[in-house]
Amino acid sequence: MTLTLTVDGERWRRHLLEVVGRNPGIVPVAKGNGYGFGVGRLARRTQWLSEHLEPSAPPVDLLAVGTYSEVADVATRFHGDVLVLTPWRPRGAAEDAPSTVAARLVHTVSRLDDLVELTDRDPGARFVLEQLTSMRRHGMTRRELEEAVGVVAQRRLRGLVGVAQHLPLRAGSHVGEVTRLLNDVVATGATTRTVLVSHLTPDELARLRASHPDFTIRPRIGTDLWLGDRGALRVTATVLDVHALERGETFGYRGRSAPKGGHLVVVSGGTAHGIGLEAPTGDQSLRSRAATIARGGLDAVGFVRSPFSLDGKQRLFAEPPHMQASMLFLPQGARVPQVGEDVEVRVRFTATHFDRVDVK
Ligand SMILES: *Cc1c(COP(=O)(O)O)cnc(C)c1O
Repeated sequence: MTLTLTVDGERWRRHLLEVVGRNPGIVPVAKGNGYGFGVGRLARRTQWLSEHLEPSAPPVDLLAVGTYSEVADVATRFHGDVLVLTPWRPRGAAEDAPSTVAARLVHTVSRLDDLVELTDRDPGARFVLEQLTSMRRHGMTRRELEEAVGVVAQRRLRGLVGVAQHLPLRAGSHVGEVTRLLNDVVATGATTRTVLVSHLTPDELARLRASHPDFTIRPRIGTDLWLGDRGALRVTATVLDVHALERGETFGYRGRSAPKGGHLVVVSGGTAHGIGLEAPTGDQSLRSRAATIARGGLDAVGFVRSPFSLDGKQRLFAEPPHMQASMLFLPQGARVPQVGEDVEVRVRFTATHFDRVDVK
């Protein structure tokens, strides 16, 4: 009863090395479900990357996690420093990180008060100062950054590692916004010239490096690194059972009667794996998504599209997914699969829990 992520290891590793080569100074991001791989595995892989760099490449010496509770999982597998992306808070989760790792931690500080409080407690703490971007999630305005830089100078803090910018995912260019933010850094009198930044294209990075040669711009990358070569990744469920179904026969938790004849195909993978009612719509245009919603995602007899495919055709849920299995409806005329066959599944990797990750 498994939902399996099978990785073409050689192809995946080649892709990872390529991305690292194209993005000098990269800070890999491993958070949440580890983009489907698990945070621990990504930490081990980051260690491997740090040992397989071109001799001239800057080191991969910093790995980003999302939260303090993720620190323990990576710290034993990756030997460099660990940046926590969620900003430090006085009554926050910082205690969730093992104290033995404290010296390798880089905190994200997004409020002046927090800078004061953090460095009251630990004057040697290392941190990045986060700037507010058009995302408006966390971060300091230019005035606040200026005050923070004042605190750093006044307290002679030596832990300032750089500034951080979290940019929206957007089609247009980030160059204008990053340029303004870098100018703000200079204007505050900050001494650091290191900036950790998300969601810049290689072209944007190259332009910013050319226009700001005094800055070290380090891209934080998760998705494009771990999931950037989808062809190296295959997600499969297994056919667990098949039952012929005549029109009018009842099935499922809700005792629904079959609107037409066919087969019920029971496959592994359910809500516990993150299999949802709605098929992933990432590659759909707004218009076709609206059309799907208007139809309630239903076919003519009221079945909902599933992310499972048989013989290359996306199949319908006979009823909403169960905790660890799903029931699909296969219309008359389609090839009936055997128990034990693989079934292709389209998933959102960041929201899927795999039973197995096989790196071949
Ligand atoms: C998740 C995250 C990233 C990485 O985002 P991807 O889209 O997966 O590359 C970078 N920076 C911050 C602050 C994040 O939370």
